[in-house]
Amino acid sequence: MNRSILLLALLVIRFVYAQNYHPPVDIPIQLSGTFAELRGTHFHAGIDIRTQGKEGLPLRAVANGYVSRIKIQQGGYGKAIYINHPNGVTSVYAHLQRYSPEITRHVRKKQYNQKSYTVEFYPEPDQMPIKKGALIGYSGNTGSSFGPHLHFELRTSANQIPFNPLLSNGNIADTRKPIIVQLIGYPIDGVINRSEEQIQLSITQKNDSVYVADTIRAIGTIGFGIEHFDRQNESFFKNGAFKIDAAIDNTPRFKIQFDTLSFDDTSEMHKLIDYPLYIDANKKVMQLFNSHETPVAFANYTNNGLIDVEAGAQLTYTIKLSDVVGNKVYLDIPIEGKVEEVWVTKKSPLPGKMIYPKRDYMFELQDFSLYINQKTFSEPTPLSIEMDGDTLNISNDYAYFEKPYTLTLEKENTPKGAYLALKRRKRWGHVANKNKKGQFSAKLKSTGAITVLVDSIPPTIEDQKKISNRWISLEKDIRFTIDDKGAGIGRYEGYLNDKWVLFEYEQKKKELTFRFRDPVKLKKTKHKLKLIVWDKVNNSTTFETTFYRKE
Ligand SMILES: [Zn+2]
Repeated sequence: MNRSILLLALLVIRFVYAQNYHPPVDIPIQLSGTFAELRGTHFHAGIDIRTQGKEGLPLRAVANGYVSRIKIQQGGYGKAIYINHPNGVTSVYAHLQRYSPEITRHVRKKQYNQKSYTVEFYPEPDQMPIKKGALIGYSGNTGSSFGPHLHFELRTSANQIPFNPLLSNGNIADTRKPIIVQLIGYPIDGVINRSEEQIQLSITQKNDSVYVADTIRAIGTIGFGIEHFDRQNESFFKNGAFKIDAAIDNTPRFKIQFDTLSFDDTSEMHKLIDYPLYIDANKKVMQLFNSHETPVAFANYTNNGLIDVEAGAQLTYTIKLSDVVGNKVYLDIPIEGKVEEVWVTKKSPLPGKMIYPKRDYMFELQDFSLYINQKTFSEPTPLSIEMDGDTLNISNDYAYFEKPYTLTLEKENTPKGAYLALKRRKRWGHVANKNKKGQFSAKLKSTGAITVLVDSIPPTIEDQKKISNRWISLEKDIRFTIDDKGAGIGRYEGYLNDKWVLFEYEQKKKELTFRFRDPVKLKKTKHKLKLIVWDKVNNSTTFETTFYRKE
């Protein structure tokens, strides 16, 4: 990481550490996720605060400031709000159920202007000033959230780099030490306990802060990885530690500290963990050495974190884990340099063509063209690329794409509703329609099977409250379940008495909701409703009806 950015971030941390932030929720803070925790394909940029398993808890501004950004999207942060504070910090609140009435008025204006539920805008400082502790909205589960919670971040406003909010909040009770789950030895170019393959090593917990591994016998270049977690007192969720150090005979080899992240770093998670083990067993084992062309930006490695063991050597490798308030544990690994007969030999590499990070590649198979540019991978990665009838199969479950590759398919005379589809985890998903040049073209960041599918069936619309020709003056809202079995839902439009109205779409629930009085006021009593839903290949279904309501 750029040194000046790091320095700036550290200064900011010191600065905010002195700040007395208002908690973003009214209940005691319990975490279900910590900063920089290893997630599916990224480091977590904030903390996840539990909301008692429900939605609708009031959310509060942590300090004086102004709403600097509102973003509503289908995935990602769902309904999110960004507040800029005078100390140069931006606080971010995500997955909201709804905004405060005052903020909602601004949001509705945008949505009605743009005729879109999803919007993004940057209000001026004087438009929505906010006082410390003021209501900004209600907690929810919108976007890529799978269970109600508040995702909260603090960022340096100037560069939008998130830093660890726990550093500026001493309100969370934490006397628990991190816990080590397992230790893995990696014979990079050597042998550990008669194995050329990675091997789980046995460890014993001596007391609540010291673990010791059984003495290992090794030769050559080796490295280690650990699986661990940390918990705050009130939380049963497993979080990550704040600081990890490793040293050989007191000489540092590896160090990582999660006080700041740049968004460029968030895709580097695959480099820090044993990625194949994560894919195979969903285990997050952090490797304390680097095996990639460019190492993880905010980790420090000496000798790439590796240890050279010679015959006759007696060494001790020590790993130290600390949480954010300084609770620590140690793991000592005694190493004996010894040449032994190998019982487990190195597995042969995966089949396929080896793709090197510093080269560009083009493959042509039947009507498919595949372009893989430099730096698509961070290490040499084998890919098996084969045709099976009309389907192109690209495989290697452990491949991690840092950049997308481009795939094009020239195919004449495709029927209406034809689309390029990718199959991953047994499910086909829409990737691209035919473009003006008559090609299917897509940028992809995953392996899988790729072929042309046809969807000629329009979406379904189900009126949950059966409003047709009914009086519904007591209902707060109208709801529809929408679904599309083939290419999936593309877009939708709703009209009330021939005027566009806002329907909120929750993908996870397959639900469209129109709320009365929000902000449309009905004058007459007989109302015409029209809803049109398109799938991704432009098949459409229209639902039209009349209902009665007096407001
Ligand atoms: Zn989160």
